[in-house]
Amino acid sequence: MGWTHDGAEDHEGYVTCVLADGRGTSASTGGGVLLMREPPEQIELDRQAGWEIRPADPGNANSRLYVVAPWDAVVAWQSACDCGWHGRSIKTTPESEGESYFGQPCPEIVENALMEDWSAHVRPMIATQEIAELWREARELDLRLAAAVQKQRQAGISWAKIGQAAGGMTAQGAQQRWGTSSIDVERVLRAGGVVPHDIRPQLPEHRGDDSA
Ligand SMILES: [Zn+2]
Repeated sequence: MGWTHDGAEDHEGYVTCVLADGRGTSASTGGGVLLMREPPEQIELDRQAGWEIRPADPGNANSRLYVVAPWDAVVAWQSACDCGWHGRSIKTTPESEGESYFGQPCPEIVENALMEDWSAHVRPMIATQEIAELWREARELDLRLAAAVQKQRQAGISWAKIGQAAGGMTAQGAQQRWGTSSIDVERVLRAGGVVPHDIRPQLPEHRGDDSA
């Protein structure tokens, strides 16, 4: 039931159920929320509170134990993300006016509101991820172009002809752009036109600076 978005693969959002004592979990079952990593002392306290203690693996006597906290132990829902981000909380019992959701699973209206917060959290990353991908593609094309030019130069093709092929540049323009390229053409061609990561040529008119 996690929220995902293309372009933000490191981010999966979900609703965290927050208990009165501050513990939180995104796992739930029919009767309430599942706390799956509690230490033995805490499990004993929860047992004394009357909460159900359930073996994770019923067939195994040494199974790890899950605590099932009833829905009325949940005081708030909060949006969260795998990256560690947390959004706002919505209380199950509103302080003043508003509908009470005490004692029930997270209603759709609350989940949608929390998902909106998470969407706002990933939106800038989706935008910058697209720029980063396009930048990588543009950079790779720059390098492949330089490799192709160098290959033709080695085959004896004139700067005039190369410039003509490159959108009608002058011979001088083509030479200025690619004449001092230090790219390792052979390696690029061996890699099927894909530029190995450790090749970092200094192109005279490179479109940017990736050191920042
Ligand atoms: Zn995130």
